[in-house]
Amino acid sequence: MGLNIVMLGAPGAGKGTQAERFAQARALPKISTGDILRRGVKEQLPVALLAKEKMDRGDLVDDDTMVTIVRDRLAQPDTDVGFILDGFPRTVSQARVLDTIIDERGKGPLLVVDIVVPQDELARRLSGRRICSACGANAEPADDADSKCRRCGGTPVFRADDTEAVVLERLRVYARATKPLVEYYRERPTFCAVNGSQAQAQVALELSTMVDAVAVRSGVVAVEARGAGGG
Ligand code: AMP
Repeated sequence: MGLNIVMLGAPGAGKGTQAERFAQARALPKISTGDILRRGVKEQLPVALLAKEKMDRGDLVDDDTMVTIVRDRLAQPDTDVGFILDGFPRTVSQARVLDTIIDERGKGPLLVVDIVVPQDELARRLSGRRICSACGANAEPADDADSKCRRCGGTPVFRADDTEAVVLERLRVYARATKPLVEYYRERPTFCAVNGSQAQAQVALELSTMVDAVAVRSGVVAVEARGAGGG
């Protein structure tokens, strides 16, 4: 059985960064549906170009498109050891389909981590967020305007969907469509919440400890090296 993880949290909660750290520390594939869509737009794939308008507005792309993307990705053999999903599910209906996919795979239960950050801090964090134009990695908040991507040396740029109006819309969409997911998962023994307001390394440590506890509780044996969640 692998570590099959879903990372929940509002835009700006640090989901992507923590997912990346954890994936590296445990040698798990990180699957970010936002990254897949942005890569698709760059490669001019029809399905991604159709989604682009919604992404630029801060709206959600339709469930069918997203479910198809994730179903295909989870069928790849590198996910046999587990995976970490970042940005999916975003609606209860996506979560229901994901439950079916997980059941059909028969490779262990879903562990759900919610990264919790208060609303006013989210808005502050979101204006000013940059990603690498080459590989899509998040730039470190401490990096200055001339810093290069720490992963590939590429140039960080502001995200097209991080302008103020779009940021507010994304937070609204989160509150309406995605936050109910927390209620959908909360009562499960495989659910845990992490305080995302702490320093990044502290969040990583808490996340790592909680995932291990939840994994033991639900009968999943974590075989990879432990530690402070990497990096
Ligand atoms: P992200 O990088 O996860 O913030 O995703 C960027 C944008 O891609 C979102 O604002 C949505 O427009 C779209 N998107 C990514 N994942 C999903 C999903 N699971 N459901 C619907 N839309 C999504």
